[in-house]
Amino acid sequence: MIEVETYRQVAERSVGRTVRKVDAPDDWYLKGGTTAAALRSAVTGQIVTGTRRIGKLLLLDTAGPTLGLRFGMTGRLLVDGTGPIERLEYSSRRHDPSWIRFAVRFKGGGDLQMVDPRRLGGVTLDPGIGHLGPDALALKPAQLRAALAASRAPLKAWLLDQGRVAGIGNLLADEILWRTGIDPARAAQSLDGAEAKALHRHLGRTIRLLTTRGGSHTGDLQVARVRGSTCPKDGTPLQRRTIGGRTTYSCPLHQR
Ligand SMILES: [Zn+2]
Repeated sequence: MIEVETYRQVAERSVGRTVRKVDAPDDWYLKGGTTAAALRSAVTGQIVTGTRRIGKLLLLDTAGPTLGLRFGMTGRLLVDGTGPIERLEYSSRRHDPSWIRFAVRFKGGGDLQMVDPRRLGGVTLDPGIGHLGPDALALKPAQLRAALAASRAPLKAWLLDQGRVAGIGNLLADEILWRTGIDPARAAQSLDGAEAKALHRHLGRTIRLLTTRGGSHTGDLQVARVRGSTCPKDGTPLQRRTIGGRTTYSCPLHQR
C-alpha cells in the first residue's frame, strides 16, 4: 500500500484532464471481465475527477466510470512520463515500451501509463470494492479492537486479510508486529486493550515511516529476513515460521 499511495499522489496530476484515448494493448492485463472495447467506449471523453486508494487498489474516478488499478509486485505508474521519486522504482529502471500495459492519453497532451514488466498488476473497469476492509490508515482504535476481538486467526494472518484491513502486505505485517512487540502467531482475539492500542499506534507509525523511507521493503527488520539473522533490537536469533501461508520473521525474546 505504501507504494500504491505514492502512485495515487502521481495520479492526482491527471485530475481535471479529459481522456482523449485509451490504449489497452494487453488483454491479460484487463481483469474482472473488462475488455479493451468496453474501456475505450466508457472512458474516452471523460474528465478525471479524483483519485482514491483502498489498500493496494488505486481508484481513478471519472465523471463516468471508475478505473481500478492494481500494481502487483512490479507495476509502476507514470504520469506525463514521470513517477514518484526515483528511489521507489526498485523493480527496474530500464524502460521497455512493451512493458506499457495500459495508457490513458489526455486531451492537450500527456498521459497516464502503467508499466509492468511481469504483468502481475491489472486494470478493472468499475471494480467491486465491497470485499475490501477499511484501509489500514483509516482504522480507528476502537474499530481495530472490536475487529481483533472477533477473530481467532493468528495475528499475522489477520493483518494480511484484505477483507479485514486493506493494504498490509507480508513485509509490512512483520515490521509492524516486530515494532509492537507481539508474537505474530498469537490469536487476534488474545490481545488485551493495551496491546490493541499499541498495535494501532505502531500500525500508523510504521506505515508513515516506511512511506517517507520509500517503500515496504525499507523496514528495520528487512535486513534480518535471511536465515541465521538476529533481532536488530536485542540481538536474539530470529525465528522463521510460516504463518497464514506466508514466511514470517519474528523475535522470540521481545515479541510476546
Ligand atoms: Zn528482539
